[in-house]
Amino acid sequence: MKKLLLSALVLTLAACNTTQGPPTTSKAAPKTEASGGVMSSLGALAGAATSGGSGSSSTDMKVGAGLDVLKAATISDADLKTVSLQMRARDDKKSKAPAGDKYAQRLARLTAKHVNEDGMTLNFAVYRTSSINANATADGSIRVYSALMDKMTDQELLGIIGHEIGHVKNGHTMARMRTAYLASAGRKAAASGSGVAGALADSDLGAIGEKLLNSQFSQSQETEADDYGLAFMKKYGYDAKAMESAMRKIAALGGAQTGLDQMLSSHPDAAKRADRMRDKLAQK
Ligand SMILES: [Zn+2]
Repeated sequence: MKKLLLSALVLTLAACNTTQGPPTTSKAAPKTEASGGVMSSLGALAGAATSGGSGSSSTDMKVGAGLDVLKAATISDADLKTVSLQMRARDDKKSKAPAGDKYAQRLARLTAKHVNEDGMTLNFAVYRTSSINANATADGSIRVYSALMDKMTDQELLGIIGHEIGHVKNGHTMARMRTAYLASAGRKAAASGSGVAGALADSDLGAIGEKLLNSQFSQSQETEADDYGLAFMKKYGYDAKAMESAMRKIAALGGAQTGLDQMLSSHPDAAKRADRMRDKLAQK
């Protein structure tokens, strides 16, 4: 009974958040503005559970969604890491540069001392692709795309890598993975009460990947990752100003970048965020 009450509470908050979220636009942008922090994730999830609509529906449907959220919440971070690893393995097979590759060698040189970073075990690899992007996932995998490496200096890449590490350290990647998992393959497992799937089918991993691509980190998460990146640069005596110049480049690139991380998308805030980095650096 207490659980039911709790679910109603969670639901109320989630529904509240959903209705207060940014207006959804239907312009050509490939991504939708979505999930923010934990509560927004729940909001998004409640929406997804009621078949994807973001508008509110009947109380019964909302309660149903709330129960789904509660069941889903029993999936542990460790299980989500496993799913994340499976997803990475799938993408790595397609795009990962081999160890001898010149991009792979450059990234290995830059990241060698960051494999064990801030209590986390990370792994880094290059994707050989024409997309300008980088991203991190809940298992601590950070992938940097070769086209991005072509645009950035070593110091700028380190700034971007610091930003990505910030998303892992602050739990953003885990929260997002949870939402994506639950909104797709995981809903089946949650509904059947079996908790987490062992090895997911390729189609399930594809569905999760799709959900991830169609979600974004919130602005506050991006800010948090920026700050982490800046601290990371200072901690290792890197050129902290490269955080700002990396963002200026991203802002100038504009265009139709798509991917897992808003930092590298055409989001108009890139210039503002560069200004913020500049101001923070000027303070001290
Ligand atoms: Zn980011």
